[in-house]
Amino acid sequence: MAQYLAAKADHPDAILFFRMGDFYEMFFEDAQRAAPVIGIALTQRGQHGGAPIPMAGVPWHQAEAYLAKLIRAGFKVAVCEQLEDPAEAKKRGSKSIVARGVVRVVTPGTLTEEGLLDARAANRLAACVVSNEGAAIAWADVSTGAFEVRLAAASELEDAVVALAPAELLAVESDSARLTPAAEYAGAALTLRPAVKADAKTAARRIKSAFDVSVLDGFGDFTETELSAMGLLLDYIELTQAGSAPKLAPPRRSTTSAFMAIDAATRGALEIERGTRSGAREGSLLACVDRTVTAAGGRLLSERLAQPLTDVTAINARLDAVAFFVEERDRRRGVREQLKAAGDLARALTRLSLGRGGPRDLAQLRDGLAAGERASALCLGVGGDAPHELVRAGEALSLLSDPACATLVQSLERALAADLPLLTRDGGFIAAGFDATLDDTRALRDDSRKVIAALQAKYAEETGIAGLKLKHNNVLGYHIDCTTKQAEALLRPPLNAVYIHRQTNAGSVRFTTNELVELDAKIARAGQSALARELELFKDFAAQATACERKIRAAADALAALDVAAASAEWAEEANAVRPEVDQSLALLADGARHPVVEAGVRREGLGFTPNDARLDAEGKSGPRLLVVTGPNMAGKSTYLRQIALLAILAQAGYFVPARKLRLGVVDRVFARVGASDDLARGRSTFMTEMVETAAILNQAGARALVVLDEIGRGTATFDGLAIAWSVAEHLHEANQCRAVFATHYHELTRLADKLEAGANAHLRAKEWKGDLVFLHEVAPGAADRSYGIQVAKLAGLPRSAIERAKAVLARLEASGGGVKVEIADELPLFAQVQAETQTSEVEAKLAAINPDGLSPKEALELLYQLKAVAGSAGSDSDR
Ligand code: ADP
Repeated sequence: MAQYLAAKADHPDAILFFRMGDFYEMFFEDAQRAAPVIGIALTQRGQHGGAPIPMAGVPWHQAEAYLAKLIRAGFKVAVCEQLEDPAEAKKRGSKSIVARGVVRVVTPGTLTEEGLLDARAANRLAACVVSNEGAAIAWADVSTGAFEVRLAAASELEDAVVALAPAELLAVESDSARLTPAAEYAGAALTLRPAVKADAKTAARRIKSAFDVSVLDGFGDFTETELSAMGLLLDYIELTQAGSAPKLAPPRRSTTSAFMAIDAATRGALEIERGTRSGAREGSLLACVDRTVTAAGGRLLSERLAQPLTDVTAINARLDAVAFFVEERDRRRGVREQLKAAGDLARALTRLSLGRGGPRDLAQLRDGLAAGERASALCLGVGGDAPHELVRAGEALSLLSDPACATLVQSLERALAADLPLLTRDGGFIAAGFDATLDDTRALRDDSRKVIAALQAKYAEETGIAGLKLKHNNVLGYHIDCTTKQAEALLRPPLNAVYIHRQTNAGSVRFTTNELVELDAKIARAGQSALARELELFKDFAAQATACERKIRAAADALAALDVAAASAEWAEEANAVRPEVDQSLALLADGARHPVVEAGVRREGLGFTPNDARLDAEGKSGPRLLVVTGPNMAGKSTYLRQIALLAILAQAGYFVPARKLRLGVVDRVFARVGASDDLARGRSTFMTEMVETAAILNQAGARALVVLDEIGRGTATFDGLAIAWSVAEHLHEANQCRAVFATHYHELTRLADKLEAGANAHLRAKEWKGDLVFLHEVAPGAADRSYGIQVAKLAGLPRSAIERAKAVLARLEASGGGVKVEIADELPLFAQVQAETQTSEVEAKLAAINPDGLSPKEALELLYQLKAVAGSAGSDSDR
């Protein structure tokens, strides 16, 4: 217990998995908290301080599944292993305790196991430090080795955290209040660390030792805040990996200005990576456009959509690669074929270098690198005008330049067996013919087995027992198995001199012979040495892979980049998407643009999507700066707004766009408020949320921003709402002077748009046809003539009486000049009266049900009598 308590004291905030034989046991509060979460029984063992000790255990070979449950439920788990063989401990004395130690703390941000990770999502660990000079976020993906540090203004910190969507966020204790909302928005577990862990000087030392350099200049000129954030991160990785820290790539540096800023509310409204309805990938932009065929490609695309670029040259470099694959369909197909065969290089490599890999990780390296080499040939054999990104990827994937890596692939191709076990300790993963020593021990083992097989016949003859069998189990090893009756002869002289009794069971008796014991031991020894040899070879391969780390990581990045470029081309062809022209202007000029997700949705229902143009220009030259959009509910306003923002995001992510043509001046920030929902978890009503968010927009949007706002100012009294909507529209036009689209129900605003110098109106067309409203989903210049609210209500199935009533109220309101007068309540007839007037009578209902063409003259006459009777009984009052 003392050993347990000491380990627990070092990891008070984690559940301690304490290895005892074949189980990980949990004790005390850990057991009580974890047992219900992972659905195992809580038991008791011994006593501590006079009370029984609560205990729960999981079998070690199933630990991963239980770990996954605990991590998902927000726990951390410290894994305390036996550091020596119990037999070793015994040698020191019968009472000595097996040495144990925590070998790892499993936390949401430091996972590496395939079973614990989502293959298509990055798993980032981020560390934030805020100081007088600003804020810095360092992040790493332990599973792939990516490492980056990003400088941000303190005000941009939350958005930057949300953009990275880390699984776990580290901060010093004093920043807890500041970073809690960011962690919540990003869905990250917040882990607080003591301030000393973010000391810049210690951090510099730590980074130097991690990357084995004497000065940091080679990586860039880091500020103290950046160093602190990196130090906080590296310290935690070391702590959780208990010394065997994974190799990270040298830190990349960037600033938030390199990426389009997209706040959490905008991400939600635009459903970039997650659909709001499902809360998962489904229904999102990412799910809609993702045609990648590898997990790493999926992760890269998700990262690109989450963080579109702002640098025109970099955006164009990505677009060049996509354009190439659009043109070169055969090459695209070839590359995608190769990619399908590639495994997850980066994650396999990390597991191998941490000593957590298995035979299948070696196979992933072999397949990934070999597929990369073939894809490389397709990219490099193009001639002079191949896009830079593809040439770079081709070079990174070519094995010619790296003999060590090429050798590794070749030997893996020969070494690995066709069917690979999950775990190295299961053995049998090295193919025959690869290693002479292994082949020899295996031959020894197999020969002995053959000898044993021959023994069965020999013993049967010797004893005269025809049904004698040789069997094997883990307790006795090889043994002779016969029935009680047959055994009698073996138990008597002379046979009992050779056949040694081992065990009597119900119905069978077991014997062995000296010869058998010897052979059994020989087979076991050969099996053990074969396994030992395999493990040695595995270790050697893992070491070779780790030595080729740089090359393999570069190849993994190149494969992902190729996958994304080819996927964009694939999707572009399917969805009729085009290359956007991105420049430094302040315009957004789209012809025939579509909302990719809504379009896919309506197409699934067999309907068509109506493309629409959009013209915006912050300078007011090639289009208005502020566009006010009106039109009935359900006409397509919010779809139109969102599609404009999505065009910018896709284009700057380096993807093709669903439009006939798009010219886009780089957007540095996009704000979308479409369909605000109550943020009740944070104690705010819809209106309050909307105002907080609107405040953020008016305070932050600069000339390069793109703002799309849907129905600001609902949720309060009409005049208040109109006044707010009015002032917000005016502020965007006059003060922010950015590209903005504003959808509203307040028709008064259309007059404002006409009056403003760079304002304009547009509306979504709808028409009435046979008393019903038909949406054309078509954007036309000018304001909508009416809002058609009552017609939409009718379409939604409001009772006829309520519709008639609304029409009457509307007519009076309009007649009174738009002002809401108290007298209206007195002037209008009562609801009950209107309801009676509009109710369908029994006669009407009967008439409606008649099909005159299907009636015989006799039936018609009968019906007439019935109707007359109903009319008579209902009385003349209600049946006019
Ligand atoms: P609003 O914001 O005006 O209430 P929405 O944008 O939510 O309307 O659109 C309502 C529905 O109309 C969408 O769910 C979609 O099915 C359909 N829709 C919208 N725009 C188009 C379009 N351009 N072409 C075809 N259908 C559309």
